Amino acid sequence: MKKRVLLGAALVVALGAAWLLYDQSAKPEKITSSETADGADAMPSASQEDEATPVHDIVEFRMLDLDAGWFRYADGAVMVTKDGGAHWQKAGPNWREPIDEDVAGEKDAEGAAEKLADEAEQSIRAIEAAYTEFSPGQTVYYKGGQVAVKRAQPISGPIGWALAAEGSGLIMPLLVTVDGGQTWHDEVTAELRAKMEEEKTRREHREEETALYGSPQLAQQAMKPGWTLLPDRTVPGDAVLVRHSEPGELEWQGKTYQLQPFKAGYFTYLPIPRSTEPGAYAIGDSKLTVEEKEFKTQHLKVSEQMESMRRNTERIEADQKKVAAARVNSAPAFLFDAEFIAPLKGRLSTPFGYTRYVNGKLSNSHMAIDLAVPEGTPIKATNDGVVALADELYLSGNTIYLDHGMGLFSQYAHLSEIQVAAGDTVKKGDIIGLVGSTGFSTGPHLHFTFFAHDVPVNPDLFFETTPFRWLKEPQ
Ligand SMILES: [Zn+2]
Repeated sequence: MKKRVLLGAALVVALGAAWLLYDQSAKPEKITSSETADGADAMPSASQEDEATPVHDIVEFRMLDLDAGWFRYADGAVMVTKDGGAHWQKAGPNWREPIDEDVAGEKDAEGAAEKLADEAEQSIRAIEAAYTEFSPGQTVYYKGGQVAVKRAQPISGPIGWALAAEGSGLIMPLLVTVDGGQTWHDEVTAELRAKMEEEKTRREHREEETALYGSPQLAQQAMKPGWTLLPDRTVPGDAVLVRHSEPGELEWQGKTYQLQPFKAGYFTYLPIPRSTEPGAYAIGDSKLTVEEKEFKTQHLKVSEQMESMRRNTERIEADQKKVAAARVNSAPAFLFDAEFIAPLKGRLSTPFGYTRYVNGKLSNSHMAIDLAVPEGTPIKATNDGVVALADELYLSGNTIYLDHGMGLFSQYAHLSEIQVAAGDTVKKGDIIGLVGSTGFSTGPHLHFTFFAHDVPVNPDLFFETTPFRWLKEPQ
């Protein structure tokens, strides 16, 4: 994470360097200023109307990031800022122009590791470029007229700086925009400063989101403008994480899913029910391909008494209502920041999605995995979350639902003992209960599954990974 932040900072420096290089030919031929910048700590005044006031010629500037930067007067005096131009101070005698590490290190960066780092950096630059709203032109619009620009520098998002060409007549020729170049200002007010702070937060969010994907290259692919499907090929019983760069909602199989803001994007889980027909589906401007998946069949023999349990529709429906109510309110954020783990190690006695016959009669598909282990085996929380439900239910026995945010829940059923209560916050690996055989169960085992919104989803998708890493490099 720390490295990413450094790379992000390097990006702005590198962009600045690119503009400096671009500008080599445009160096001023004459350096004229009748007045020296001898007034230490002097702010260049932008408000004076007096014709006789000698104009301070600013010949060069460079912002290093949203906060730090410098400009040079024609007489060589340098002013520096640490607060995005709100205040400028005369540079000390030992001031040197900061050297861009990227440019300086170019010659010896030939090794494979460096190349990899370069590719990662390029991806991070591309992500930032996709979020840059200001593209410099030859002129900027300022106080009702076009002003010729000597050099302009996009910084981040809608923030950019421009130096008016010589002869502009502007008392303060260094201009700043916080709205992608629509309006320009010769003074950084508290309001402008607040916009810069907002952009800082947005950039932090982009850096944090970049770190969630499998690689910076995949982050670049995911964080592009418009819709992203993670992944865009799926099978019935799986789920897809949907991202958009803007707020919105999604229609899918007769339901509306609201995208929730998280980091630099907007997300929702899209469940692919077992009954989904294979084919191509339009999701916004993207295409989701649902491939065919074969599910095996399992025959189960149970006692007459157990079989009769399943006919008590009144109790079953009452439980369904309870569970539905618990699953309505999911935290509007991803509550985990690392991989999901298996809740315990044990023999997989029934895989996900089996078509089940109970005593020869077609039953519901088994939309969970069964792990057969001795009674009393501790059960771990698959990831960080909040207990949405911890209750004794009729068919699933002692049951826990954990909310992992954004409509994703994990379910643990047939427990001998529940060791958490609704509302508890749990960390990945916390023991939440013990294996048992309560409810509709033929022996000690853990019945475990995920729900995306209210559709059961294959747990194998989650183990040792996170939904952000469902997007993989093309094979
Ligand atoms: Zn089961």
